[in-house]
Amino acid sequence: MEGCSSGIVTHEPEAGVLYLVGTPIGHRGDLSPRAQQVLAGVACIACEDTRHSAPLLQAFGISTPLLSFHRHNSRERVPGLLQRLAAGEALALISDAGLPGISDPGEDLVAAVRAGAGRVVCVPGPCAAVTALVCSGLPSERFCFEGFLPSRGRERRERLQALALEPRTTVLYEAPHRLRQLLQELHEVCGAERPLQVARELTKRHEQLVGPDVATALAHFSAHSPQGEFTLVLGGAPAAPPPTWDAVLLREQLQQLLEGGSPPAEACRTLARRTGHPRRALYDLLHSAVDPAEGTLEPTPPPA
Ligand code: SAM
Repeated sequence: MEGCSSGIVTHEPEAGVLYLVGTPIGHRGDLSPRAQQVLAGVACIACEDTRHSAPLLQAFGISTPLLSFHRHNSRERVPGLLQRLAAGEALALISDAGLPGISDPGEDLVAAVRAGAGRVVCVPGPCAAVTALVCSGLPSERFCFEGFLPSRGRERRERLQALALEPRTTVLYEAPHRLRQLLQELHEVCGAERPLQVARELTKRHEQLVGPDVATALAHFSAHSPQGEFTLVLGGAPAAPPPTWDAVLLREQLQQLLEGGSPPAEACRTLARRTGHPRRALYDLLHSAVDPAEGTLEPTPPPA
């Protein structure tokens, strides 16, 4: 790595670059040396709440000026920040904790900088979603991130219904005062036995994972008032049961498709799509011998 000594890139921060800097989600030791260098060197740090970020920066001897940048003022702040970048200033964006842009402001600013062909560099750091996922023990090869569900109404119900069917592990954020309600809803839509780990206070003194399923987490937090910060890692929906093989019904359906003008191969393909049965098995069924006594097709065993 160019200009690198002990892992620190010495030319950073560079002029005119917007740095997205990951900050601790609890443990201050997680602010990387590179993050410290960039935050100390930029002209200004845009942060959600200056009162929240000031103590962290002070703890590292960083006295860079702060500018508030939160979801209520981010739109009006963007043009000014773009001007400063265009004038050659290096700027950093941080959130209260974790990675900016993940359930935190940042997305609009990054899109605007990129739209103007400006440079954006991420100095990665902790993220509650990924931290919870990797220590949950649930499948992490493929996963989805839902963040906070809509707070109420049809939109919330629809997202919960979608979660009930989602085969991948899903990561959710929730506020402590809403955790019990969410657990009850997950119990209703996903069932008591759906795998779940509720990660509480990650990287902090009282870090805890409560699982292994929805029923256990619901029972635990019904007995213990939820306090602190919570990230939920919900196991995927179990695979749908294999379709039932009903040779008589399948033959009738094939017959209807043939009568409707589909050639045999297409009829088998269509029915395979509709039922989930292998096309080859349907093809064999279609071509199974006629029972001479009955004048009908002989019963065919289901595919192995
Ligand atoms: N941008 C942040 C990130 O990358 O982790 C997330 C910001 S979001 C507004 C805040 C939510 O993240 C909290 O309500 C909680 O659900 C989750 N969270 C943050 N810190 C956490 C921690 N230490 N333990 C568990 N969940 C945490």
